[in-house]
Amino acid sequence: MTMKEFGVTSGGNLRCRGWRQEGLLRLLENVLSVGEDPANLVVYAALGKAARDWRSHDAIVSALTTMHDDETLIVQSGKPIGVVKTHERAPIVIMANCNIVGQWAKADEFYRLEQDGLICWGGLTAGDWQYIGSQGVIQGTYEIFRRIAEQHFNGDLTGRLILTSGLGGMGGAQPLAGRLAGAIILCVEVDEARIRRRIENGYLQHQAADLDEALRLADQARAAGEASSIGLCGNAADIFPELLRRGVTPDIVTDQTSAHDLIYGYIPRGLSIDEARAMRQSDPGGLSKLSLTSIAQHVQAMLDFRAKGSIVFDNGNLIRTQAQTAGVTNAFDIPIFTEAYLRPLFARGIGPFRWIALSNDKNDLIRIDDYLLKTFSDNPSVMNWITLARQHVPVEGMPARIAWLGHGDRTKVALAVNRMVREGVLSGPVAFTRDHLDAGAMAHPNIMTENMKDGSDAIADWPLLNAMLACSSQADLVAIHSGGGGYAGYMTSAGVTTIADGSSEADERLRLTLTNDTSLGVMRYADAGYPESFNEIQKSNIPYINLR
Ligand code: NAD
Repeated sequence: MTMKEFGVTSGGNLRCRGWRQEGLLRLLENVLSVGEDPANLVVYAALGKAARDWRSHDAIVSALTTMHDDETLIVQSGKPIGVVKTHERAPIVIMANCNIVGQWAKADEFYRLEQDGLICWGGLTAGDWQYIGSQGVIQGTYEIFRRIAEQHFNGDLTGRLILTSGLGGMGGAQPLAGRLAGAIILCVEVDEARIRRRIENGYLQHQAADLDEALRLADQARAAGEASSIGLCGNAADIFPELLRRGVTPDIVTDQTSAHDLIYGYIPRGLSIDEARAMRQSDPGGLSKLSLTSIAQHVQAMLDFRAKGSIVFDNGNLIRTQAQTAGVTNAFDIPIFTEAYLRPLFARGIGPFRWIALSNDKNDLIRIDDYLLKTFSDNPSVMNWITLARQHVPVEGMPARIAWLGHGDRTKVALAVNRMVREGVLSGPVAFTRDHLDAGAMAHPNIMTENMKDGSDAIADWPLLNAMLACSSQADLVAIHSGGGGYAGYMTSAGVTTIADGSSEADERLRLTLTNDTSLGVMRYADAGYPESFNEIQKSNIPYINLR
């Protein structure tokens, strides 16, 4: 099978000199196999790419298949630059994607550099080959809905209506997360093909022909006391105001269109997808203005729902920032999900940890699930999630699992899995990684670090330290990313992957990488003054130097 067929490789045959290189190669194949537009190397989030162009991609594959364990491949914005001699404890791959000097880090400059073939945006997990399909954000979205249920609905979302939009790579997790949380979720998506894709891959149940049918399906589910997910083809900037006009007030409202990108992401109301695509070439400035106007209407509707009592939150797509630019001065009345629901978890180093079975054998995933269910029987949140996930989350690409684990627990799982690889309990090695949206790994003042207790929202030292620490801790791949498209100038983050190949060297790599990664996360939040972090520091002996 050739790479451009976007398949994944199974079994134990190595095309590289070792599993560290082979594992990373399989992860690169995997992000394309589950990507939104793999022919153009686009994985998710409108423009998040796995490599700069196909020549770069092929050269990366060639480097991975020939390099030795004591060599390191350098990747600059999706293009391989060289393979240098390092040592066997150094990363196999280091990358820096889309980092533009401060005063130049603007969307227009990004597009110019992108079009000149000088840069590409790696998203968070596209450029460093850590994306696992819609599952990557499903537990985060589920946890948000559960927190909202606890805070506002006596812990029960039965019969409650969630309204959202965007069924792309990440947004596609919303219908399943909403349903698992027990709600009825209506997802507005402008591209019918994306609705079909989410139905085909098991993330969405129904497609409604029009808004009337969508509301009828929601009423039927409510009457039956059943959770349900409904897709509706339409533009959110049309449908949200229309629901207001009809007097429908959803219980929860959010959005996950690619609103961060006014040219390649968001589709303005009044334009078909083809018209928007044509305007990207003929009049990008005009398209950008239309998107802003449309986002202003979209966010105004979200604010109006809020005024009527809906619980409204921003799900991490910069939509409030765009709306504010377009003149919606109170867009930031809508809270960001991190601050509103997840920060106490991040403060303890708990975040979107994940693993991928490199054998492509689903049984390996099941065996690791079994291990978790046995080992974490006193942890209701892990038990609940793994039980739900193994039953309901479909396998997309290579078998992978997301699980929000924290300091110590991540290391424990990885070492146990490495032992299972060594003892032949699993049929092949396993890659351990996490989302960049993790405690010490991201500075993003309008998403991850909004309203930090000490005002340190925009300090990017933390993700940079995080990446350097991962290199010092012998991770196999380390990446530093900054924002592209509309995210240019808004964020910096770090990614890390380590392969459990069963060796004793992997024991050390996993122990150091994962322990130090979450240690830094807890220290970052302690330094900002979060009490949960101090508890974790005491409990786990994290060597924080407290100069506060
Ligand atoms: P994507 O580009 O794959 O999908 C976006 C979807 O929105 C597309 O299907 C598109 O057709 C649809 N869309 C665009 N304009 C629309 C409109 N006006 N009305 C209805 N549908 C419209 O992007 P993605 O990977 O799903 O990510 C979506 C957003 O979420 C991005 O901004 C991304 O950065 C952000 N994100 C947040 C998190 C998080 O942790 N909260 C994680 C990943 C991504």
